[in-house]
Amino acid sequence: MRQSKLFTKIRREAPADEVAKNAQLLIRAGFVHKEMAGVYSYLPLGLRVLTRIEAIVRKEMDAIGGQEIQMATLHPSENWKKTGGWDGVDVLFKIQSRTEKEYALGQSEEEIVTPIAQEYAASYKDLPLAIYQIGQKYRDELRAKSGIMRGREFTMKDMYSFHESQEDFDRFYETVKQAYLKIYAQAGLTAKVTEASGGAFSEKFSYEFMVLTDAGEDDILYCEACTHCANVEVSKEKEGDTCPKCGKSKLKKARASEVGNVFDLGQKYPKAFGFTYMDKEGKPNTPIVGCYGIGITRLMGVVVEKMADEKGIVWPESIAPFGVHLISLGKAGDEVSADADSLYEDLVKAGVEVLYDDRDARAGEKFAESDLLGIPKRIVVGRDATASGEFEVVDRATGTVEKKSRAEILTPNA
Ligand SMILES: [Zn+2]
Repeated sequence: MRQSKLFTKIRREAPADEVAKNAQLLIRAGFVHKEMAGVYSYLPLGLRVLTRIEAIVRKEMDAIGGQEIQMATLHPSENWKKTGGWDGVDVLFKIQSRTEKEYALGQSEEEIVTPIAQEYAASYKDLPLAIYQIGQKYRDELRAKSGIMRGREFTMKDMYSFHESQEDFDRFYETVKQAYLKIYAQAGLTAKVTEASGGAFSEKFSYEFMVLTDAGEDDILYCEACTHCANVEVSKEKEGDTCPKCGKSKLKKARASEVGNVFDLGQKYPKAFGFTYMDKEGKPNTPIVGCYGIGITRLMGVVVEKMADEKGIVWPESIAPFGVHLISLGKAGDEVSADADSLYEDLVKAGVEVLYDDRDARAGEKFAESDLLGIPKRIVVGRDATASGEFEVVDRATGTVEKKSRAEILTPNA
């Protein structure tokens, strides 16, 4: 894409009321537009990142047998009254129609997915069942100060699974856990899994997937020798204690950000809707339900917070809006600009996702803006490159500069 055609522009300043680093950077770089506290629109660059994160999540959910659907976000209040959520969930957005009928905006979809599953899972032969969606969610947050990491409206992948037994849920939870860890790794993050309290959602327990980052909202204790990890809020352990799991190392404390969660919901929701299936003995039985969330927009925010440097955003290649930022230092009509044009066309033909800065602007300004955008590789076409046929390729994350010929650029994996 030609940057001269991109309708968003780099801004010098973020809105004065925006305190979160992720939102400040994303607004300045034109990835998102702030509508109000905790509510953002996603512009072309931002949507490209979201779409790539969604593709990773979708692939891993499909691989473990999840079936994607799209659920309503405008919910009948009756469903929430049945489960106790209408009065019990303080962040639930409630809407009154002019007909005086009441509705909820989905902050989670148990109230919708349970009746759907009830309709189709009548027998043990229909279980286990895992249904997921990627869609909008709403939370009536009192304060929304974390940018896209905790919004009043956000995009979430939520999956719900239905099982004959606790053992089957436990087995599936392990499968989901591995899929989640794969997702985070592909997004350039290393996540740890904690055991935490279930909060308002659950009558049982939950797991949280945490990424170590100073921007995090939680404190965790973790062991460097094994996978043990606990949220300080619910743990009796302290920093410096010997790891209760492996006994080999002392527990360390760190700030962390939640990037996913799993709730063992037990039979709460099926019971609320009178959902039973016919078990192997021919008797009605109530399924065990699990809920598995990944905040898609939140994950994007965590990546920004975790990887940004003093110059701007640093995207991992897997979720970057473009793989290459091609920068022309020529002026319209000159030899350098013609060279950059032809390299751009060749890159597009080679299937490289490239943002081409073909604008007439000073080199210093272009480089500063390129750093802010955070595209993994920058290729610079200037007078030297055009003369020598060797282009400067700069790695955004490390700052490493390599000289490459056009052929090397066009066949990156050769
Ligand atoms: Zn340990």
